[in-house]
Amino acid sequence: MNLSLVIPVYNEQDNLPMLFDAVYNTMNAMQKTWEVILVDDGSHDNSLSILKEYAEKDPAHIRVVSFRRNFGQTAAIAAGLDYSQGEIIILLDADLQNDPADIPMMLAKLDEGYDLVSGWRKHRQDNAVTRNFPSMLANGLISRVTGVYLHDYGCTLKVYRRDVLEGFRLYGEMHRFIPVYANSVGAKITEVAVRHHPRKFGKTKYGLERTMKVVLDLFTVKFLVSYGSKPIYLFGGTGSLLMVVSAFIMFYLFVRRIFSQIPIATSPLLQMSAMFFILGFQSILMGLIAEQLVRTYHESQRKPTYTVRTRINLNRDTDD
Ligand code: UDP
Ligand code: MG
Repeated sequence: MNLSLVIPVYNEQDNLPMLFDAVYNTMNAMQKTWEVILVDDGSHDNSLSILKEYAEKDPAHIRVVSFRRNFGQTAAIAAGLDYSQGEIIILLDADLQNDPADIPMMLAKLDEGYDLVSGWRKHRQDNAVTRNFPSMLANGLISRVTGVYLHDYGCTLKVYRRDVLEGFRLYGEMHRFIPVYANSVGAKITEVAVRHHPRKFGKTKYGLERTMKVVLDLFTVKFLVSYGSKPIYLFGGTGSLLMVVSAFIMFYLFVRRIFSQIPIATSPLLQMSAMFFILGFQSILMGLIAEQLVRTYHESQRKPTYTVRTRINLNRDTDD
């Protein structure tokens, strides 16, 4: 299998027929083997029965996973990835705001040697106040914090090689952080402008609150990517810094006591120094617990702490 399209579907009955037309048009024009995994995320409308019809007509290409209830777009994407078989994964929305016609162009980009090609909705057709503007700020923030500069993290349309995602689990709203994770395992990433259409049928499932969730997820992602396998560097670093500050304050109090005869015990600085000492010490201990957790995490899942691009004269079995 060459290509797997993964499409989350939540109450999109009116979009599905046109979606299938667009997907068939694009995929049939390519000389590749392909499949579409549609994940019905607990829709309340007719989406599932429409998906079933198409799956019955074309079992070679159309595969459907249906959730018992609504678990959210990220979970739907995660399920799609789990059930897909292609070497190349293409993520797409079901509402036709993304245009499947952009896929060949993105695949061509991938062939230039990239591992991940991310779409950029240069002329985005969503609500300017609740979506486009907050998203612009969020994109700037994510780029700065993670060091992976993309204009449009929120664009679902992405194409990537399966191996850059091996071992990565998607939580919360994390599907948008796939490029950050991919970058952390050494993937080559690029961005291309893609078409974006206004939603014709159904309505958007998101508003302003989403940006908030994204920012919170950013903390987690930054922590996992930068310190996930070495948490003591963060906790221990912070802790040591606090203890050094505490020691400086103490030293200052002593010097002041000796040379200016100002008593130590009555100064608020003494309390501050004690507080910094305790906080710092706690933080280091917390780092040690986190180190213990990291070991459990990696060893219980036999997860290596590295990722391999190629092997020469070695077969797969040797590294797990
Ligand atoms: N979606 C989903 N589960 C949800 C919300 C959305 O599977 O709980 C799907 C939805 O059907 C669509 C995609 O995720 O295919 C993007 O959703 P939407 O178009 O509402 O987001 P927007 O384009 O407004 O960011
Ligand atoms: Mg949409």
